[in-house]
Formats: sequence, structure tokens, C-alpha cells
Amino acid sequence: MQPKRITTKERLQLRRQAMPEQDAGRRRVNFEEVNLGLPEKFALIEADRCLQCKDPRCMNGCPVGVNIPRFLELLAQGNLPEAARSLLGDNALPAITGRVCPQETQCECVCVRACKGEPVAVGHLERFVADWARQHPEAVPLHAVPPTGRRVAIVGSGPAGLTAAGELVRRGHDVTVYEALHRPGGVLVYGIPEFRLPKKIVDEEVERLCRSGVKIECNVVIGRTYTVPELQARFDGVFIANGAGLPMFMNIPGENLQGVYTANEYLTRVNLMAAFTAEADTPVLRPRRVAVVGGGNVAMDSARTARRMGAERAFIVYRRTKAEMPARVEELHHAEQEGIEFELLAAPLEILGTDRRWVSGLRCERMQLGEPDASGRRRPVPIPGSEFVIECDMVISALGTRANPLLTATCPDLKLDARGNIQVDEQGMTSVPGVFAGGDIVRGAATVILAMGDGKRAAQAIDRYFQARTEVVPATAAGQA
Ligand SMILES: Cc1cc2nc3c(=O)[nH]c(=O)nc-3n(C[C@H](O)[C@H](O)[C@H](O)COP(=O)(O)OP(=O)(O)OC[C@H]3O[C@@H](n4cnc5c(N)ncnc54)[C@H](O)[C@@H]3O)c2cc1C
Ligand code: SF4
Repeated sequence: MQPKRITTKERLQLRRQAMPEQDAGRRRVNFEEVNLGLPEKFALIEADRCLQCKDPRCMNGCPVGVNIPRFLELLAQGNLPEAARSLLGDNALPAITGRVCPQETQCECVCVRACKGEPVAVGHLERFVADWARQHPEAVPLHAVPPTGRRVAIVGSGPAGLTAAGELVRRGHDVTVYEALHRPGGVLVYGIPEFRLPKKIVDEEVERLCRSGVKIECNVVIGRTYTVPELQARFDGVFIANGAGLPMFMNIPGENLQGVYTANEYLTRVNLMAAFTAEADTPVLRPRRVAVVGGGNVAMDSARTARRMGAERAFIVYRRTKAEMPARVEELHHAEQEGIEFELLAAPLEILGTDRRWVSGLRCERMQLGEPDASGRRRPVPIPGSEFVIECDMVISALGTRANPLLTATCPDLKLDARGNIQVDEQGMTSVPGVFAGGDIVRGAATVILAMGDGKRAAQAIDRYFQARTEVVPATAAGQA
């Protein structure tokens, strides 16, 4: 590595480089990406802000263990091929995490520069290097690895499944991913909207994995097409990463009126079924006024999507204040810029309808914050006599998701917790030997990078599991799916 070009004092004087964005007025009516990416000149300056700490705290905040100072130093030197090789060696999906990771609560919040000013923009630089690598695939060649003869089945092609698949083929194992939907990517393709994560980028990352040897079979529902015990009979190891895709409901009167969607259905129709295009086979209603119930990323994505679908007004209805909202800071900020309105300290009581059973409003009551609850956040308490109505013709509930029992019902030996999530040991192994699990199906709805961390750890554990069982004969081609 070449010597540093600038002194620590000079590094400390550099100010954080801002991410260029599409103008809020223009982007409110299109689905193009909001963040435009740092130009190279600014990315190199930003990389120079890294102090190359001997004990880099940023790495403790990264669930997949990216060697952050190393790739930043290579970037600062302008050595993009090495920076890309370093980053991709640690993180199988950097163009995705560089766009959607909540860095402000992970690597960036523990960056030493955050103590006195702004942290290094690790996420923006990750995106810069990953996008450079996408445009220069020859710089990060795929290396053929001798096959081990071991076969692994992965259930689900979200970030947990894809990361595990990439790690396992790198070790020479034969990997087949089974995906229930017609397109791989999980929430990355059906949940997170195009304007935050273009689907082309997910497709490219998936293609790269396929070129490295990962096989993906879509339209296969494990629990229906095959069961987990059937996969066990045909493969040497199984990794379950089927996410937490079952939406939760508000359980209030009027939830079955026309014009009520769960965020899951609404976003899937718009993202996966491309309902925002004129040619879509499965269009969605285009409301004039929409009320979205919830305060997380999913609620912001739904409200911002509805605005782009033509809604004149979109309201976020949340029972606490902005300070308690689980949404990413950037998402909240972008939603505000795009004119999303916030009905805070408000809880829904009833969805109102017309004689023809179309949504006409959302009856709510005002809340105040009381004592902290089990999550540590102050509990919302209703204010008597404070009811009010939000006039709207669509209601989207974005209250979160939980585990779908379809797969686990056909594998009764899998131990579940009280919420129906699969229980695993510290290696990621379930109660069934040789069957591992990770991502949202274990944690409940969480984040992309935590799912990827689980996928990476499970792949390493599966590899160790095989090594410890060298006497076991690998599944033969005769019994293959
Ligand atoms: C709208 C939305 C926005 C979000 N925004 C962010 C964000 O900005 N940043 C962030 O870090 N996280 C975000 N998240 C959370 C994040 O996307 C998830 O935590 C992450 O995708 C979980 O990964 P996973 O691999 O465990 O599951 P998933 O991504 O859910 O993938 C599971 C896959 O398994 C498939 N599957 C399910 N059942 C079966 C079966 N029986 N057989 C075969 N396949 C099956 C599913 O179709 C799916 O493709 C968001 C979530 C949503 C819904
Ligand atoms: S903590 Fe911040 S300054 Fe230190 S190595 Fe990590 S990114 Fe660089």
C-alpha cells in the first residue's frame, strides 16, 4: 500500500461530502433513484476523511465485518480495482447495502469522527466503490473453486439466502436456491421501492452470483412444492431464509373495505408487478388522499410511493412522535421533502366507508406519551374525547410483518419461539441437525445487513459442519431435485 498522501491534521479539516439528490419537486412524480451517487472527485475527498484508526470502531458496527479502513484507504489512493476487490471480498451485495443500510445506527454512529463532528460517509463510499465495480466487472474476476461434492439447498432469495449462497459457492459447494416468487431478491425486489433501490442493481448482483455458480429456481414454494424433510433427503445441508412476509393487521372495524391495503400487498403490486407502468397486468388503485398507518421504513416507502402514484396528499399516522419513529433518518427526511404529512401522536380507531363500501376516511384518536414500555420507548396513551377523522380514499397499514407458518407447518421438528420464528443456536443451526436458518425468519422483521450477517455466519457454520462429517457420503446425483 502506498504511503498516505495527507496528514491527519489535513484529514480532520476536510468536511463531509454531501450526496447529490434528485430535486424533491421533480422526483415526487417519478420512480427514478433519489440519491444520485458521489462523483469520483468527492468520493476520493470523503475517503481521505478516514483517520485509518488502529482500532477501527466502525468495523464493530458492521454485521458482515467489512474491512472499512482498508477499502477507504485504497479508494483514497485512487486504487479502485483493489478497493473493489477488498469490499466485494467482505460483502456480497455492496451496491445494495450502500443504498439501504442504516449506516447512521451502525458503522457511522461508532466512527471516531462522529465524536467531534460528522462521521465518515461509509455508506456513500461503499455505494461508490460497488457501482464502480458493477461498471468494471473485469476488475473483480470470479475464481473457479474445486467442487467439494457437497450440496446445499437454500430457501428464499432475499439478502440472507443470497449472501449464504455466495459464501457457499466460494467454498466449492453446490448451491440451489428455491424462491417462491417469480423473481429473486426477496424484499429487495418486492418491498423496497425503485426510487431507493433500482431493481436493475438487484438483478445485476443476482446475475453475478449466478455466474459464480449459484443456481436459482423460482416459483418453488417450500412447504408446498417440496418440504424441508424432502430437501434434507436430497441435499447435505439446508439453509432456511424465507423472511417474515406475513403482514400484521390493525384489527379495527372497516379493515375489509375497498381501498384498504397492507403495505406488503401495495408495495408488491407496485414494485414487483410494476403497477406504476401503464402496461401493468395488476394495477393498483390510485388514491387522491391516502393515510398510511405506521412509522417505519415500510410506512415511509408506502406514502412516498402513493405520492408518486398521483396522491395529492399522503398522511403518515403514527402513535408516537418523530423521535421514536423506527424509519431511517434519511427516509424520514426525504419523505418530509416530498411533502408527506405527519399525523403524530394519533392512533386509528375505525376505517370509514361509503354506502358502496369504498374507503372514505380514517377515524383516529390523539395520544400522549406515558411511561416507557418493554421496548424502552414511552408508551402512547389515548387522550379521552380527542377523536378526529382524516378524509382519505385509501388506507395502507404498515404495522410490520411476522413469520409465515407455511414452511414450518410441514417440518414439525423445527423449534419455534412464541412469535413463530425459527430458533437457532449460536452457529445458526436449528433444532434439526444439518438445517440452518437466518434473517427475518429468525429475528423477526429486521434489516438487510443483519440478514446478510446471518447468511454469512450460517454459510461458515455449514462449511464447518461438512468438515466435521467428512465420513458422511455426500448426496448423490441420483436423489437430486
Ligand atoms: C418495504 C420495506 C422496506 C425496507 N427497507 C429497509 C431498509 O431501507 N434498510 C434495511 O436494512 N432493511 C429494510 N427492510 C427490511 C429488510 O428488507 C429485511 O430485513 C430483509 O430483506 C430480510 O432478509 P431475508 O433474506 O431474511 O428475507 P426476505 O428479504 O423477506 O426474503 C425472503 C425470501 O424468501 C421467499 N420465500 C418465503 N417463503 C418461501 C417458501 N416457503 N419457499 C420458498 N421461498 C420462500 C420470499 O418470497 C422472499 O423472496 C425493509 C423491509 C420492507 C418490507
Ligand atoms: S472509525 Fe471512522 S475514521 Fe476510524 S477507521 Fe473507521 S471510518 Fe475511518
